[in-house]
Amino acid sequence: MDELIERIRQVRLQVEEAIARTARNPDEVTLVAVSKTVPAEHIALAYQMGLKVFGENRVQEARSKISALPYPLIRWHLIGHLQTNKVARAVELFHLIESVDSLRLAEALEQNAAARQKRVPVLLQVNVAGESTKEGVSVVDLPALAMAVLRLPHLQVQGLMTIAPYTTEPEAVRPVFRRLRELRDELRERLPQSDWAALSMGMSSDFPVAIEEGATLVRIGRAIFGERP
Ligand SMILES: *Cc1c(COP(=O)(O)O)cnc(C)c1O
Repeated sequence: MDELIERIRQVRLQVEEAIARTARNPDEVTLVAVSKTVPAEHIALAYQMGLKVFGENRVQEARSKISALPYPLIRWHLIGHLQTNKVARAVELFHLIESVDSLRLAEALEQNAAARQKRVPVLLQVNVAGESTKEGVSVVDLPALAMAVLRLPHLQVQGLMTIAPYTTEPEAVRPVFRRLRELRDELRERLPQSDWAALSMGMSSDFPVAIEEGATLVRIGRAIFGERP
């Protein structure tokens, strides 16, 4: 538990240092604590340390933790691939779905949100590096998906998300983060119906670089909760 407190302190310091290297406003960057595989008691401690936003990659796993942690200010982001048969649960549980990568999924979300008469915040997940193993819409298909999703009245598209290739050298993925920001800037110009403010990019190994390149959400797991089993 002491280790968790110390790791949170270290991560916050690194976030602040990265923001200080840019001309950015500190409120523009939100730390999303990625709590997949982490037990609810550790999440509760992180919450008490002031972390308010948690990221989970599986609907089923998130469900029991979300009901165990009914804090009024807690926010849950879905960061993993969403199957259309889990859409109802996801709409019910999550405050932001970061992983929309197909029109089929967006339409399933739209239908569910419409039935509940609510508007569901989403990000479009982009496979910037073109890795065959990664989820995400391709860079080529992004504009068409963005245009189609903007026409769905019960979805609120807030921006883009990407998972950079795994690397031990953070500078190696700077071009991926820069590209996501450029793609966002292009969408903002072509499709001003949305402000495209959110850029979710950067994980434990590379979040300072992502912040320098404009990340507004950094998804940090291991650097906060320790190595996963
Ligand atoms: C697990 C995961 C993270 C966090 O990765 P760490 O290396 O533990 O920081 C971020 N984003 C997604 C989509 C993940 O699945």
